[in-house]
Amino acid sequence: MRLRNITGSREAIAASAYVVHEERECRGKWAEIFGNTQPLHIEIGMGKGKFIHTMARLHPEINYIGIEKYSSVLLRAIQKMEEEEKPNLKFIRMDAEEITQVFAPGEVGRIYLNFSDPWPKDRHAGRRLPSRQFLGRYDKILEAGGQLEFKTDNRELFDFAVEELAPAGWKARVITYDLHKDAALMEGNIMTEYEEKFSALGNPIYKYIICREK
Ligand code: SAM
Repeated sequence: MRLRNITGSREAIAASAYVVHEERECRGKWAEIFGNTQPLHIEIGMGKGKFIHTMARLHPEINYIGIEKYSSVLLRAIQKMEEEEKPNLKFIRMDAEEITQVFAPGEVGRIYLNFSDPWPKDRHAGRRLPSRQFLGRYDKILEAGGQLEFKTDNRELFDFAVEELAPAGWKARVITYDLHKDAALMEGNIMTEYEEKFSALGNPIYKYIICREK
């Protein structure tokens, strides 16, 4: 998602108290930043933030961080926070490629990837958020037994993501090729902006929940 450049979005983000600005300095200190030792769950590529805002409201016992690369998109998530503040939710504007410099080993309990950009060209496969390159990075920050949840309506991206698991040393706990028809998995499912849009068009939603092999 890349919205039109919104004038002043960078400045608004720089001034926002909801955004962590010196994120590398927080590495290993996220409990201190939140002021408690609740589990830490992150969404990478959160877009306008509907999913993570809802999760933070429903689960005050968990700390959430929404990560987004583009200021114009992140601004929307910040505006939602101005309407309803949540002490357990913070944002970072960054490229997820740098994630191991922001979270210490084992600091993250769960990672969410929702409707990640497909990067259709083969030469860009390493930029896909569920690629083996990114799984290697997630491996470094997830706690033992931590899991990653990925949803998309893009079948090619989902097939790619499933094929990446074994070579990267991960295994699927759950795989569905039609999330919205699976009553058990739909319990507690929070729809993202893209999920609402594409499921309304009749597209099936694919989802996996994965963990490390070891
Ligand atoms: N998760 C939202 C949803 O499901 O409605 C947004 C999906 S949108 C297709 C993907 C988002 O991921 C975009 O906002 C994009 O800017 C962000 N993104 C893509 N690659 C990223 C990266 N390497 N680091 C951080 N954000 C990224």
